[in-house]
Amino acid sequence: MMVIDGKSTAENLRQSIADSVRVLIEQYDLQPGLAVILVGEDPASQVYVRNKVRQTLEVGMKSMEYRMPPDISQAELLARIDQLNNDPAVNGILVQLPLPAHIDENAVIETIAPEKDVDGFHTINSGRLMNGQTAALVPCTPQGCIILAKQHLGDDLSGKHAVVIGRSNIVGKPVALLLLQENCTVTLAHSRTENLGSLCSDADIIVAAVGRPQMIKGDWIKPGATVIDVGINRIDTAAGKTQLVGDVDYAEAQEVAGAITPVPGGVGPMTIACLLQNTLTASCSQRGIAIP
Ligand code: NAD
Repeated sequence: MMVIDGKSTAENLRQSIADSVRVLIEQYDLQPGLAVILVGEDPASQVYVRNKVRQTLEVGMKSMEYRMPPDISQAELLARIDQLNNDPAVNGILVQLPLPAHIDENAVIETIAPEKDVDGFHTINSGRLMNGQTAALVPCTPQGCIILAKQHLGDDLSGKHAVVIGRSNIVGKPVALLLLQENCTVTLAHSRTENLGSLCSDADIIVAAVGRPQMIKGDWIKPGATVIDVGINRIDTAAGKTQLVGDVDYAEAQEVAGAITPVPGGVGPMTIACLLQNTLTASCSQRGIAIP
């Protein structure tokens, strides 16, 4: 059984991004810039933003951070995004979700210029992904899932039966589209799916993006299958502490799977690495140059 190491895979990806950034700065006088907007003081969002800023700087990019009060009006937030859309030093724009209830998330996402939408959530980018156009900026966590599946299966995923559990716009749907692009036969399962266990037991690849701790059991998994666990759930342990677990029952799954991503240390670290990859892609395409 192979434990798919997301931490070192992400480190390698960030290293190669840093190499490209160095060339961009030296040869093209282009230092990619990523603007991150954080509205309010949600503790989890603050941690995510801090990590994004740190890793952006580590690969040699510019990081611009905009912290806005929780009661900022939607109009003010949209005006800030508009300003960043028009700022040539900003190549990527990310608005940390979730937003306070009085702000319409869709309106915010649709205001970001599609070519700077490094989260890949704008309708133009999801439409391009749907149509299989290479110009799409693709959501980060789904990209990470594909890279990790290929660590076990190699670059050619054709003909594999992939069962994706979860149909969110952030993970489930885009990961299903990416797997389809890789010529997998894709089953997209969700909360209303019947006989989920028997569906899974036919899967060569399982991608679990549900948000329910340890829901996918060992006897759902085909021997030798590749299991990509996107879930991040905090549970209470018997010792009175808390622990992070995935959507897959790891102890059971490792007895049957051919490979599995651990939680933490699997899909999680890939997300920011892919965000930086998108920022690099966006920067180069805005300047009309190939990624060095
Ligand atoms: P979501 O709540 O938006 O979507 C959950 C999906 O699971 C829904 O589509 C729902 O239909 C499906 N679902 C719910 N109950 C089900 C059931 N009993 N059987 C089958 N399907 C069921 O969540 P999301 O944003 O897609 O995130 C999913 C998980 O992935 C969460 O644990 C989240 O924390 C994690 N996540 C991790 C990363 C990362 O690693 N960087 C990024 C995004 C999300």
